[in-house]
Amino acid sequence: MPDSSPSAKFVFGQKESLGEIFMPKIEVDEKRCKACELCIVACPHQVISLSKSFSPTGYHPACMVKPEACTGCMLCAFVCPDVAIEVYK
Ligand code: SF4
Ligand code: SF4
Repeated sequence: MPDSSPSAKFVFGQKESLGEIFMPKIEVDEKRCKACELCIVACPHQVISLSKSFSPTGYHPACMVKPEACTGCMLCAFVCPDVAIEVYK
């Protein structure tokens, strides 16, 4: 059962299966994201970029562009001032 509280950034037990390999991933809440790009700068593996599409609030929200490189390090979630990122690992 995922922890769905707004402050939760790390959710236990939500692993995405790729065969027998579990891949970390992030999810961006597009309603919260203000496209400040702090997560893009923070990510050591260039996993994140801004989407070309608009969010409901009129921003180009952050999204994963290199999901296979995500290590689940959580740096992106720590720096996000809008608590828009959840990390699953
Ligand atoms: S969890 Fe780490 S590797 Fe994955 S997108 Fe965030 S900063 Fe990048
Ligand atoms: S740090 Fe948060 S608000 Fe800024 S672009 Fe990333 S997800 Fe959006």
